[in-house]
Amino acid sequence: MNRVNKYLLLSLSIVFLAGIGAGGIAAGGTAAGDIAIVIHGGAGTILRENMTPEREGMYRGKLTEALEAGYAVLSSGGTSVDAVEATIRIMEDSPLFNAGRGAVFTSEGRNEMDASIMDGATLNAGAVASVTNIKNPISAARLVMTESRHVMLVGAGAGIFAAEHGLETADSAYFWTQDRWDSLQRVKERENVETDAIIPPKREDKHGTVGCIALDREGNLAAGTSTGGLTNKRWGRVGDSPIIGAGTYANNETCGVSGTGVGEYFMRGLIAYEVSVQMAYLDLDLAAAASVVIDKLTAMGGTGGFVALDRNGNIAMPFNTRGMYRGYIKADGVAHTLLYSDE
Ligand code: ASP
Repeated sequence: MNRVNKYLLLSLSIVFLAGIGAGGIAAGGTAAGDIAIVIHGGAGTILRENMTPEREGMYRGKLTEALEAGYAVLSSGGTSVDAVEATIRIMEDSPLFNAGRGAVFTSEGRNEMDASIMDGATLNAGAVASVTNIKNPISAARLVMTESRHVMLVGAGAGIFAAEHGLETADSAYFWTQDRWDSLQRVKERENVETDAIIPPKREDKHGTVGCIALDREGNLAAGTSTGGLTNKRWGRVGDSPIIGAGTYANNETCGVSGTGVGEYFMRGLIAYEVSVQMAYLDLDLAAAASVVIDKLTAMGGTGGFVALDRNGNIAMPFNTRGMYRGYIKADGVAHTLLYSDE
């Protein structure tokens, strides 16, 4: 074969392979417009008998507002990363959830927040941990992903980075809520503060972390999680929420996942990544993978749940607690919210 023919053959193969690539994405992915969002607002003991109609209405209303904010981004052609950030910011700004404004207190009576975000198209990720004065930690996590060479920044350094990038700060008064303060007093009474047990005992408290997975028109997935952690946490404890693979994961080839529950179990079980791995290596569909992984969490003694979304718009929302604040919205724009275990 002369040089010209070799060149022609090479060019043809490149065109052919590129065609397969593009076709593969279109066939295996999502038809344009098939957008979807799934969220959680924490797992725990969420029982009808403990809920007033007003309180239930507040939760459903805020979950709906968050879903609709993300939907507005996606339906106008925004990316899944944009949608995750917009959705989580609504929940961070609400005192109802243990994230941002409603973050729980550490044993010293402070608020130390963790958040992460991951882009399933590029596998880029960003996270912040133990931040105290950033109004929307999810936006800081996104900036770490897009504006730094790093994946995770913690504490004061993360605060400086966020301020340098113009993020809104808030002082401790902004994060102080009566509800969370009362919870701290209750948990302090129950837990022996002198104990050096690092792993919180299995418990049925309401956790309240928030998380979101979005699928945009291009078929790209993104996942994010934001939390105040566990009430009465000590020693700069950081949980699973800012750890990529533990509390948050997204990969266009499989799914996006965001978890909530006692973080130590999610960290040791790499729960979010595990859902993706079950799909990638065992060829399970999302529902089967989610069921294997929630069983694994339960077998480890962990309590909590997670929400997951695959590139075809399939949703899974398993949990092993008595309830999880959760919801989803698909291309039709109708928000669905669920709280209890029998919904
Ligand atoms: N997973 C979070 C943590 O351990 C807490 C939660 O989900 O409520 O920090």
